[in-house]
Parts: sequence; structure tokens; C-alpha cells
Amino acid sequence: MYQNFQTYLQDELSKIEDAGLYKKERIIVSPQGSEIILENGKKLLNFCANNYLGLANNPKLIEAAKKALDTHGYGMASVRFICGCSDLHKELEEKIAKFFGTEDTILYAACFDANGGLFEPLLSAEDAVISDMLNHASIIDGVRLCKAVRYRYANADMEDLEKQLQMAQAQRFRLIVTDGVFSMDGNVAPIDKILKLAEKYDALVMIDESHSAGVVGKTGRGVTELFNCRGKVEIITGTLGKAFGGAIGGFTTGKKEIIDMLRQRSRPYLFSNSIPPLVAAAGSKMIDIMSETNELQDKLHENTDYFTTKMKNAGFDIKPTQSAICAVMLYDAKLSQIMASKLQDEGIYVTGFYYPVVPKDQARIRVQLSAAHNRADLDKCIDAFVKVGKELKVI
Ligand SMILES: *Cc1c(COP(=O)(O)O)cnc(C)c1O
Repeated sequence: MYQNFQTYLQDELSKIEDAGLYKKERIIVSPQGSEIILENGKKLLNFCANNYLGLANNPKLIEAAKKALDTHGYGMASVRFICGCSDLHKELEEKIAKFFGTEDTILYAACFDANGGLFEPLLSAEDAVISDMLNHASIIDGVRLCKAVRYRYANADMEDLEKQLQMAQAQRFRLIVTDGVFSMDGNVAPIDKILKLAEKYDALVMIDESHSAGVVGKTGRGVTELFNCRGKVEIITGTLGKAFGGAIGGFTTGKKEIIDMLRQRSRPYLFSNSIPPLVAAAGSKMIDIMSETNELQDKLHENTDYFTTKMKNAGFDIKPTQSAICAVMLYDAKLSQIMASKLQDEGIYVTGFYYPVVPKDQARIRVQLSAAHNRADLDKCIDAFVKVGKELKVI
């Protein structure tokens, strides 16, 4: 039996490879940080991690995790409602709610699960989901699992959203669903305008703050802070895997009854293991650090401004950004791959993206800034871009 299937898979895999879309893993042998060491011993400055605040190797988080290993052991060996809930899990849930100005929080093994388990317990065939076309794969999958009628609107396009909301008046409840930061361009969802339309057309609002929590807004409270809308959306989802320490875990935070219903009916919560206590403990520490000081956000915002300004001045075509994502537009797919590879030769680790990850003829290199980068790191990256950019006649 396997033989036919094997031939089929081999064919499909070579098609992926021929299209230049085959994904290879690069093996890192150091902690995640502004500088990483690859298996071959090569040192690179890392500009493609979601380690926006540099917390992935933060000594205080490591200490909190080690301490929890001693007091609470390694694993929970259970889902939450059987015997997988420790005081550390509850503490983190409360802290996340406080951070976002919401009423309650439910933890998941990942934000992919938070989004996967969000829609089906809340909405039925009588209801509507109105979703931004550029929303994350986990939102798309989560929406697929529920029976609500689906409407889609062009990325951050409020006219289109309004049209879809008018059509969705036929349904009982309406939920507008959006990423906070769209990860390929770095633009943010205009949540103030979305909330106005939600009020006008009687809809609920959900925002996924995975790329924005810790990053966007003066104190890193995310897109709702940036637009002065803290506490106004009904549902926020997010990850512990990006700015929030970079380990693992996701959450949904928002209105009390919504979170309560998720605890009763959300399948990834009911049928999947709890995050390890050490991750919960480090997560709590991470929120403490962010509540005490704004140093990391200030540094990140300063780094992002410095980098994008210098790159623009050097003549690069930079997508307008309101996050720590800086898309250097090249348009040509092949060029994006050549440029990324030449940058790696210069000691800079970045990734080139092209169709189908971004629209056709919109190839780019996505640079992700971090509070862990110092001025010398940024200058080295800019210098490498300028050198390679001139060589390839991009600037
Ligand atoms: C990264 C990301 C996720 C997935 O988060 P994990 O915790 O890694 O599963 C979900 N939504 C958005 C918008 C993301 O950027």
C-alpha cells in the first residue's frame, strides 16, 4: 500500500522543490538572541525572530522558570479541568487580563489553539463572522470549524467592512475578526474605526494581538492601546511565543462570560494538555517586568524608528509600518532570495518572502526589529543592506 502513496508524495515534494518553495530548517545551537550560532559555527545577527523584546533568553525569566521546576515539577500530565491547573496557571491568567484591561483569560497550548477553539463554541449557523482577508492561518482554520456564515473584507478596508456588515444584518450575532498587526506588511488594524462600525452595525469584535502584544502602543498593550480602545473589544487572542518570552502558549482574554463559555466548550482547551508550570511562571514574570518598566518597549520603538528611517534614507522602498516589522520591498521573487542569501554572507539573518506567502510580484525581505538589538547591530544590518543593495542595483 505504501508504495503508491510514497510515489505520490515524492512527486508532490519534487513539485514543491521545483517551484522553489521547499522549506529547509536552519539549525541553531545557541539560545535565541540578537546573535545566534548555527550548527556550522557561523555567527549571525538575527533579524527574523519574533523575539521583539529580547525576552527569549532573559535571565529573570530563566530564573523564574528554574524556580518553578523545583516547586511545581516538569509537566502537568493533564488537561486543565481534570488535574492540569496549578496556581501558576491561574496567576498568569489573571495577570494577562490585567495587562490588557479585560475581565478574564483562558490559556491554551498555543495561539493556534486559542484561535482554533474560539469560534465553534460561541457561534452557530444563525451567526456571522466578518474576517479580514489577511488574517492569520489559525483564524481562518478556526472560522472553518464553526457553522457561522462567513464574510470577508479587503485588508483593513473600512468601506468593504461596512458593506459586509450590511449584508450580515441577516444573521443573529455578528463577530468582526482581525489580526492586530498584519505580519507581512507590519500595518495595524484600525481598531478605532472597526469599533465604530461594530457599534453602528451591532457587531462584536475580536482582535489577535500575537504580533502586537508587548510591541505596539506606548506601553506595549497592543493595538487597543495604540488607538485608545483598551477594554473596548470583547475578545483578544495572543501568544506567549513571540514578544512574550518566545516559549510556547496562547490565550484568549476578554469578557467574563465568553471566557467562561470557552472553558466549558472550547475543544483545544478541553482535549489538550496544559502548558508546563515553568512556562506559566516565566509568563507571570514577563508581565511583571512589563508592568514595572517601559524600557523594553522604548528601546524597541527607538530601534524600529532608527532602522526604518536609515533604510528609507538609503533609498530602500519600505512599507509603511506601525509595528516592529519592516518590509523591504523588492517585488521580484528571485531577487528576494538572492538578496537574503547575500545578506547571510554578510552575517545578517533575514528571510525573503514571495508568492504565495505574499501577493504575486510583491516579494520582499521582512526585517524584524528587537529590543535586544543594539545600535552597532542595527548599523551592521543597514550597512549590509546598502552594500548588497548596491551590488544588486536595488538602490
Ligand atoms: C504567530 C501567530 C499565531 C500563532 O501563535 P502560536 O502561539 O505560535 O500558535 C496566531 N495568530 C497570529 C496573528 C500570529 O501571528
